[in-house]
Amino acid sequence: MVCKADFLFYTVSMNSECKSLRGFPVSPGVVYGEVVAAKEESSAEIPRRNISEDQIEYEWKRFEGALNISKKEIAGLKEGGDKTQNEILDAQLLMLNDPEFLPLVKKELESKLVNIESALDSCICSATALLRSSGDEYLACRAADIEDAFGRVMRRLLDRCGRKECSGDSGGCGCSATLAGKILAAGNISPSYAVSLKKAGVAAIVLEEGGPACHVAILARSWNIPAVVGVRGLCGTAGDFSGMRMLVDGRAGTVFINPPEKYAEDYIKTEREKAASSKKTGKLPSETSDGVPFSLLANIAVPGDCAGALSCGAAGVGLFRSEFLFLRDDSFSLPDEEEQFEAYSSAARAMDGRPVTIRTLDVGGDKSLSSQAALKEKNPLLGWRAIRFCLDEKEIFQTQLRAVLRASAFGDVRIMFPMVASVYELDKALSALEEAKASCRRDGFNFNENIMTGVMIEIPSVAVCADIMARRVSFMSVGSNDLIQYTMAADRENPKVSYLYNCFDPAVLRLIKNVIDAGGKHGTEVSLCGEMGGNPVSACLLFGMGLRKFSMSAALMEQVSAALSSCSSVKLEQTAEAVLRACSSAEAESILERELGGITAGL
Ligand code: PEP
Ligand code: MG
Repeated sequence: MVCKADFLFYTVSMNSECKSLRGFPVSPGVVYGEVVAAKEESSAEIPRRNISEDQIEYEWKRFEGALNISKKEIAGLKEGGDKTQNEILDAQLLMLNDPEFLPLVKKELESKLVNIESALDSCICSATALLRSSGDEYLACRAADIEDAFGRVMRRLLDRCGRKECSGDSGGCGCSATLAGKILAAGNISPSYAVSLKKAGVAAIVLEEGGPACHVAILARSWNIPAVVGVRGLCGTAGDFSGMRMLVDGRAGTVFINPPEKYAEDYIKTEREKAASSKKTGKLPSETSDGVPFSLLANIAVPGDCAGALSCGAAGVGLFRSEFLFLRDDSFSLPDEEEQFEAYSSAARAMDGRPVTIRTLDVGGDKSLSSQAALKEKNPLLGWRAIRFCLDEKEIFQTQLRAVLRASAFGDVRIMFPMVASVYELDKALSALEEAKASCRRDGFNFNENIMTGVMIEIPSVAVCADIMARRVSFMSVGSNDLIQYTMAADRENPKVSYLYNCFDPAVLRLIKNVIDAGGKHGTEVSLCGEMGGNPVSACLLFGMGLRKFSMSAALMEQVSAALSSCSSVKLEQTAEAVLRACSSAEAESILERELGGITAGL
């Protein structure tokens, strides 16, 4: 069960060379093939090659070019930045002009006769090692600043290392050519790197870290790339992954390392036969066995996901995670109004009159834009993210709001604000929307004056005050991924505290029930767009608690529809009543197992 906290991790030996490891099954599908280790720009190996004396000047020119681009990037980031942010960026600029460090790099280049990346890397390593060994906290921090500033230069150099494949779509030097059709394995990867994997044609993703609600898992699911995350012991068992083959089962959450070829073939054959026999055609059932309707919508990351959502039977888009338009390899070039308008209006057109709920920029935490990353907050998950960032970065917010408003002329587009913690923030967001409407009117753009506006309920403060929120918006969408994290004070991606990250904890269920009831009382639509909605058992429980709208990865809709339509609303309401009386997640789970165990067995 996706939401279950006490997930068992274990290692089974198949024979001396083949091991199977377990993790979270986050995106279904079975793949057997060659493994490639993820190489993000920041962790990419620094190439080293010898050069001749007459190449020194060329290498130095490359360095100066990368240095200048980096300075321009930093200057660009400073525009509209606040005081603290700009101080950090100024410090980076000073580093890049350092009259002592730069000659050291030149000296290294001339004396060692190696390519500039290698010379720069040696200088960064020795300077930072010296500072860190000083025992002085301030100097140790300067070491991190050097890595940060010259890391930027290094990334520019690696972009330009002249290898054709490096300009591919896969992010940094993890080239498309190397990734296509392969199984990508790593300790962890960043969401901005993950964004590039679909285009690169990765066949499956396996990570040692992460959990069902991590953004890499969410992306893999929405792109139908089989994935298993939270595979403890993966890196230790698999080393650098070179020459390795894996059999990945994204439904069972199993990863077989170097399985016998015949075993893999038989395994895949059996799984494909099972999938083919359970494949149903036509529209998804959308009512319970006693005729109470429910509606299933899709979570998408890019407009191109709409086609898949429609083919899976989505009644609309319940969550368009717009931040994935902003998170790219070149993360500081924000999409302008036209680019965003194109994306939002093309989703509206593709969904052909069905609702398209666009969540405004939700960056920060594990999805940081460069300006946020530069802040190096102590607690980014509790920091300057999502609506907090947008309310400060007025221009970025207005640009997005105008683009969404303009797209509303092309379909049933709705706006949703993420990570709202208080009425103060919601009111500020709503007045920013009024400001954007006024500017669209001034510029003569058509838009829906009555665009539906909603708030995400992902922080306990607003779940408790759902009645206050419900009076101000037309809909509320429970972001259970974050709501669980913030209610239980347990990082959603940290396997060490995953025993706490449990959607069936009474605290979580009571908060959600409060939101559903407040919505009912005030006539405000309530939906849920976290991963909890995509699990058949928790979806049944939510239905019993009164929820009728669920938004999830398109790939999960068929099983949720099958589960809900196989039960009667009366049965689900009775089960939910019993579960809501439970004192612990374990008790809740055992009630669910007893009452609804049959539905998952039949799926
Ligand atoms: C959530 O928190 O449940 C949610 C849908 O948002 P995200 O997973 O993108 O944080
Ligand atoms: Mg969230």
